[in-house]
Amino acid sequence: MPFLPTSPSDLHDRGWDELDVILVTGDAYVDHPSFGAAVIGRVLEQAGFRIGIIAQPDWRARDDFARLGRPRLFFGITAGNLDSMVANYTANKRPRKKDGYAPGGKPGLRPDRAIIVYSNRLRETFGNVPIVLGGIEASLRRFAHYDFWDNALRRSILIDSRADILVFGMGEQQVLEVASRLKNRKALDAIPGTALVAHDAEALNEPVVLPSWEEVKGDKEAFNRAFRLMNEEQDPYRGRVLIQKHDTRYVVQFPPAMSLKPRELDQVFALPYERAWHPSYDAAGGVPGFETVRFSIISHRGCCGECAFCGLGLHQGRIIQSRSRESVLREAKLISERPEFRGTITDVGGPTANLYGARCTRWSKEGACKTMQCLMPGKCRNLDLGYGESIKLYHDMLALPRVKHVFIESGLRYDLLLGDEAAGYLEQLCACHVSGQLKVAPEHTAVPVLHVMNKPGLAVYEAFEKRFRETNRRLKKDQYLVNYFISGHPGCTLADTLEMSLYLLQRRIHPEQIQDFVPLPLTLSGTMFYTGRHPLTGKEVYVPSTPNERKMQRALIQWRNPKNLSLIREALHTIGKEHLFARFQKAQRG
Ligand code: SF4
Repeated sequence: MPFLPTSPSDLHDRGWDELDVILVTGDAYVDHPSFGAAVIGRVLEQAGFRIGIIAQPDWRARDDFARLGRPRLFFGITAGNLDSMVANYTANKRPRKKDGYAPGGKPGLRPDRAIIVYSNRLRETFGNVPIVLGGIEASLRRFAHYDFWDNALRRSILIDSRADILVFGMGEQQVLEVASRLKNRKALDAIPGTALVAHDAEALNEPVVLPSWEEVKGDKEAFNRAFRLMNEEQDPYRGRVLIQKHDTRYVVQFPPAMSLKPRELDQVFALPYERAWHPSYDAAGGVPGFETVRFSIISHRGCCGECAFCGLGLHQGRIIQSRSRESVLREAKLISERPEFRGTITDVGGPTANLYGARCTRWSKEGACKTMQCLMPGKCRNLDLGYGESIKLYHDMLALPRVKHVFIESGLRYDLLLGDEAAGYLEQLCACHVSGQLKVAPEHTAVPVLHVMNKPGLAVYEAFEKRFRETNRRLKKDQYLVNYFISGHPGCTLADTLEMSLYLLQRRIHPEQIQDFVPLPLTLSGTMFYTGRHPLTGKEVYVPSTPNERKMQRALIQWRNPKNLSLIREALHTIGKEHLFARFQKAQRG
């Protein structure tokens, strides 16, 4: 199917003089199911609406926003696949040199706080045209939230953008309902998976009242309470309406949308994507972010892991939604028939690769538990990991005529690769689906830090490491683990980092994959970073917040880099461990 229209000449070619919906996105236009604007555009198109896309408009003027005219129903705005502040800045708040979702990787094509900027330009250009927000930036900023880049709380993005409605979560059902209501001139209230601004809250049936913007702004305990209440209601079955007063108005969040059923999810992935970047980017060399997904397949959505630092659970939900095997196989076949395919499907996964097919009997009846977690402190006995399904899926993909390799590149939960239930899966994984290196994320080694992150303890990681080694030995495979760590997370002191550093040093592990912690809006870790207390337990949490301490923590973990020696010396001096400096010097020489 042709790309969705992006210019007046595209409209002319189709004989259209008006569009129903225009999507404005901070990413380049790539027509692929990994790109939110493409998915929403194709879903609306399938339902019979006329859709256009304005990708990465020049926000300094109105021309790009006016390019396709005024839509009959609404403008939909997304910052893109990432929050615009994450896309534009490093963890040290420096401008990024590249933007993987822009043509040629060129930075500077999306504004900071893209949703607010785009929304304001559209209001200036078209007055009271309906504006619908979506994507991760909107989702994670739907209530008053901590913003790392301002180092301050900000109001709900609904207030600052002056939009009519915000869609949170993956959005297909919500956006169809919004389009249908606007077409039929009906009110936009009470759509599951949306939030809006109301002038009064009297018509709402017993909503949960969050501390107001005015309260949270001046009181960290109130902000923690708002997080706790908000977090408890993010379930499509048992979630209640939430309200948060901002001055004289109310931000109203309706319960999350129901999970898509496998058949519905299959339909989303069967839409006629071009699976390419828009040809207008050819001259710039294309869109680098597309290369990483060109031959990969999303098999499921959602994550029940509840890692404290991650925003995906809040966005995609805790309930795993898996595509049918037939649907994934159809996509694999489609990819394999493309002329540029060289025989390797680079990834089959989702937020956590080994949760494909996972299910709990409660999920489809009463939602995920409010008081229990699915994976912590250990896997819930009601959670069926569905590994048989995964094994069969991978096996059938490998049997496709042009497919030589199927790799799993998405992160895996290593704690779910222990026990009898996982033996066959790990064997198959190591035998056929690891391209020499398997990515896992222990994140840290100090147990108190892992506890704050809501990750399993070090002993679990070591048990997995041993099993991975043994499995590969048995299979006569030379394969390694690539470990991901986070530095500077709440709860992590310099002493904790030194403990990790010595652990790594002793094993001669010098990790390159270190992520400086970035507190994302509305996440548990982001909330702790701001308040210095755990919002669910009320306990005080140490927060390494100064740039210098963050640098020292990173230097200790990257102990092998000679450039880090002076920071290592400073860190050791700070905690009275200077006597260990010689050990670092010696290790670097060794
Ligand atoms: S019963 Fe267990 S697996 Fe199911 S939702 Fe509750 S904690 Fe998760």
